[in-house]
Amino acid sequence: SVRESGGDKIVSLSKATHKALNRKALIEKRLLQALDQKNLKVLYQPQVNIESGKITAVEALVRWEDEVIGVVTPDELIPIAEETGLINNIGSFMLEKACEQALIWKKAGFDLKVGINSSVREFRDKNMAKAVLDTLAKTGCPASLLQIEITEKFALEAEAATFITQQMRKLENEGIVFVLDDFGTGYGSFRYMQILPIDTLKIDQTFTRSLMKSEKTQKLMLGMVQLGKSMDLNVVAEGVETAEQANLLKSFGCDTIQGYHISKPVTPEEIEILLVK
Ligand code: C2E
Ligand code: MG
Ligand code: MG
Ligand code: MG
Repeated sequence: SVRESGGDKIVSLSKATHKALNRKALIEKRLLQALDQKNLKVLYQPQVNIESGKITAVEALVRWEDEVIGVVTPDELIPIAEETGLINNIGSFMLEKACEQALIWKKAGFDLKVGINSSVREFRDKNMAKAVLDTLAKTGCPASLLQIEITEKFALEAEAATFITQQMRKLENEGIVFVLDDFGTGYGSFRYMQILPIDTLKIDQTFTRSLMKSEKTQKLMLGMVQLGKSMDLNVVAEGVETAEQANLLKSFGCDTIQGYHISKPVTPEEIEILLVK
């Protein structure tokens, strides 16, 4: 009967919810342990200047394969980490790794900027700027080699904005570069651009993906590149997978590209191979 099938639905829905909650709890528990044992890995994805073809920076991306759960992708991991507060631990782990790696490359003669991802929310923590500067000091990595990519997932509350801006300016004054990640998809792109010390716009890969199929997208991306240039910002396009996309973006005046067309995220050793090519 209808009633029975309706009843089934409720049971299966709650089962699914239950399963999701269990997985989340398991991920949280295993993540704590992984962070404790520094069991997370970092891959680096190069960014290439379109004109010169040279790698100018790399982005550090977290990778986690747990022995019990298996691979947990960043798309699953990061939201859970944000919810549970463990994002700060991931943030400090990635920061330290990135700084150590940037210094290794500098000593090997490569002046390569290394970018880490961070949520604007992390800058609400009053210790954030100091923690970043302490890590630079501890590792010996020059501030000028560090990029911080921030996402615009959240609207910037007026009360927090002044404080966050101050924290970021403190770091900017030391030479750290800020990148506005996933540009064009977020909450408050223009407001972020207006108040935060942003140096680079990174146009979200969803635009790149439909670039060759949609004239509308072409106009949008051209507009975004021009907007960035008019504000003296560097403009990066992410998710570039073909030469066709790269050429069109070059004709738009885009400075830098990142994506499978250049390389997937790879180990530091593989980055070095790409650097000397
Ligand atoms: P994101 O910062 O926008 O990074 C770009 C994502 O797109 C990466 O996925 C990268 O592997 C993928 N990608 C790059 N080029 C291409 C391409 O040509 N085609 C396609 N289809 N994909 C491409 P990943 O590593 O899975 O990370 C997803 C997101 O998770 C990142 O997006 C970032 O927001 C977040 N994330 C990753 N690592 C960290 C981290 O250490 N800390 C924080 N807070 N977030 C992170
Ligand atoms: Mg990023
Ligand atoms: Mg992005
Ligand atoms: Mg993204």
